[in-house]
Amino acid sequence: MIKDQEVLNTYQVRDMFLYVADRIIESEPILTKIDSQIGDGDHGIGMRLGFTKVKENLTDKQFSTINDIFKTIGMSLISTMGGASGIIFGTMFLGGIKDIDLKNELDLETLSNIFETSLRVIKVRGKAKLGEKTMIDSFEPAVEGLIQCVAENRSILDGIKLAEELAAKGVEDTKKYVAAHGRAKSLGKRAIGFQDPGATTVYIIFRSMREWIENFFCIYKL
Ligand code: ADP
Ligand code: MG
Repeated sequence: MIKDQEVLNTYQVRDMFLYVADRIIESEPILTKIDSQIGDGDHGIGMRLGFTKVKENLTDKQFSTINDIFKTIGMSLISTMGGASGIIFGTMFLGGIKDIDLKNELDLETLSNIFETSLRVIKVRGKAKLGEKTMIDSFEPAVEGLIQCVAENRSILDGIKLAEELAAKGVEDTKKYVAAHGRAKSLGKRAIGFQDPGATTVYIIFRSMREWIENFFCIYKL
């Protein structure tokens, strides 16, 4: 049986992603700096625009399913960010909800299933594999962390913590890679030593989800 503390209702999932949105928006300067090193410097701006729209579309709204929350986030990102990264980060939230039943609660297994499918869809669409200096380098290990914790029957906090840890390691690993996609590709070996912006954003998303659960989830239980 799933314990209370291991399930987030729709209000909590919405609040968690509003918190994630604020953390991404305030990361604009660092994401801009990272993308200026190996890209065109627009990643921070794109993510800020995307997550500002997410906030607008999540604030003061009621959602009856978590599918609808993920869909709203994905659509907000795609409609405002534009370009390849809009589709990639939109798909992170949109790509995994089609195959699952409508749910009004989010447990670790559901989160893991959603992101496992969206990872697969992103890989098919973007044709990037591990080690090619993209967001896949942090998203794939993060998803593996979620899957591992589901198998071990761990809590949603444990799952997201491990995902965060493995995503951070994935970001570090991108420093070793040359890029096979996007603008950084033209830099060849000169991209070595710099981390990938999109991989960094994925890490910030998991870190922020973990922070929200650690700091605010318990409030609802009082
Ligand atoms: P752009 O490359 O159009 O300037 P951004 O700067 O917003 O867009 O985003 C760049 C990020 O997009 C990269 O750091 C990388 O993580 C991600 N990315 C680029 N191409 C791909 C791809 N084919 N698959 C997965 N992620 C990708
Ligand atoms: Mg860019």
